[in-house]
Amino acid sequence: MNTLPEHFDVFILGAGPAGLCAAIRLLDMGYVVGMIEQEQFPRPQIGESLSPGIHNIFEYLNAAHLLEDSTYIKNIPAKIIWESKEHSYDRPGPDNGGIVVDRSKLDQELLKFAVSKGLHLIQPAKLRQAIHSGNDWILEILNRSAGISIHSKIVLDARGRKGTLLNERLPIAPSAVAAWTHIDNAVVKESFIEAFAEGWLWGSPVSVNRYRIMAFTDPGTLKENSGSHLSGLMNKTALFAPFVNKIRNSSIETCLVSSFVALAPWDKQFVKIGEAAFTLDPLSSTGVEKAMRFSLQVAIAINTYLKDPQSEHPKNFYEEKLIESVVSHTNWTADYYRKAWPDCKTAAFWMKRASFQLDISKSKSDFTLKLEKVLNNDRPVFEKKQVGPIPVDYFLSRFWNEKIVVSPHVTFKAVYAIDHDCVVIRRAIIHPNLELPLVYLDQLELYSFLKDINGSAISNILDSLNRSMAMEKSKKMLVFLLSNRLLVPTR
Ligand SMILES: Cc1cc2nc3c(=O)[nH]c(=O)nc-3n(C[C@H](O)[C@H](O)[C@H](O)COP(=O)(O)OP(=O)(O)OC[C@H]3O[C@@H](n4cnc5c(N)ncnc54)[C@H](O)[C@@H]3O)c2cc1C
Repeated sequence: MNTLPEHFDVFILGAGPAGLCAAIRLLDMGYVVGMIEQEQFPRPQIGESLSPGIHNIFEYLNAAHLLEDSTYIKNIPAKIIWESKEHSYDRPGPDNGGIVVDRSKLDQELLKFAVSKGLHLIQPAKLRQAIHSGNDWILEILNRSAGISIHSKIVLDARGRKGTLLNERLPIAPSAVAAWTHIDNAVVKESFIEAFAEGWLWGSPVSVNRYRIMAFTDPGTLKENSGSHLSGLMNKTALFAPFVNKIRNSSIETCLVSSFVALAPWDKQFVKIGEAAFTLDPLSSTGVEKAMRFSLQVAIAINTYLKDPQSEHPKNFYEEKLIESVVSHTNWTADYYRKAWPDCKTAAFWMKRASFQLDISKSKSDFTLKLEKVLNNDRPVFEKKQVGPIPVDYFLSRFWNEKIVVSPHVTFKAVYAIDHDCVVIRRAIIHPNLELPLVYLDQLELYSFLKDINGSAISNILDSLNRSMAMEKSKKMLVFLLSNRLLVPTR
């Protein structure tokens, strides 16, 4: 075991996916990184059904091999009753990219991987006290019965949802509770999802012989049903009722799953990440992927801070990314709850969720005020045009003899972008056909490219693009810019 330094660049609390993802990236950038974890590993952990995007995150961390385990179940098909009570529809399994893992094993393997890269780990250990002093944090840590004191320039709080106290949270959805159990099963190989008046149920294989059934409902509903509990809710559905006789009420677990965002997620370089910063509605089933994706952005903010502690960009970039995630998630979930079968619309569980209004009156902080402002902005109506594959050469030939200019509807705006793992300010282009401001198109910085283009012919534009990229790629880019009318012919 390597000697524990007294001074760290970054110290992380909690060895879940969020903490470990940040640790691996920061170690790769050359920083001195420490971590405490309160549990001995392997430890049981819920959240095993991982969304397809998890694969490219593990690849990016050079840890893709950790998802290659013969006991993990891939591409599970699903049967869903949601929009219509009478009809179920199937979501096919093959190649959907989803994977069910054993979190106790995966988290342990990822932790070992981080340690092999130089992570200083104290386990089991808990934080006793954090004191901000001058330019760094002094952390008093309890390791078994011994006290350890260390200094760190940054603390990343990745202690999961329980790491953020109730008075440090802003609810971003009505409160919700999950109740679940496992049944022995080697027969049903698909997931089931079904909406009912008081909530919804989700069933999924978690290993070859074990199937988990989980209900999401209002805390009050669970209390009313406490006698019959989960089986009472299952009896109200078509997909789950056949399993009721397999349920043993004694083996039911429950926990609060209310979504929230932390009130002050970046406070004097004490920075919350993963579920400690933002817990998603369970409907999304992408908690692990989103937690890790956010950690990748946080690592870039931290790198920028450590290179220039006076810069305000890292904190602003972090808050902007967190607000973007919260806003897109809350809009997505409200839309999804609205889609549930028509009778649901009169039920309190669904109505509350489809029309939830953020209330920061009791939780005003710099961060929640910024969040409220963005959330209350009208959502831009963006009609995504369904463009089929475009025959590139034919398309370009139509413009071949034209002079091309930047559309008068294009405007420019300074936004945060990432360059060599640092937060930088770049000019982005804005246009009614673009969903978001665009800085780069496949690594080509658009502002520099567009500023000298006016009046050029297609052949000249292709020549200039072709100096830094292959001809096929140059043509595709030009087709993207012309077909979305960011570039237009002069005629
Ligand atoms: C019922 C339920 C079902 C879910 N299902 C899914 C799913 O199917 N798919 C999915 O993607 N997500 C799911 N999620 C969400 C998923 O579990 C989380 O998004 C994910 O685990 C968040 O990762 P994290 O690293 O932020 O936190 P965690 O995974 O919770 O990790 C936090 C770590 O910090 C440690 N810790 C806590 N307190 C301390 C302390 N004081 N000192 C030191 N260490 C500490 C903990 O022991 C733990 O190891 C589910 C969540 C719930 C509640």
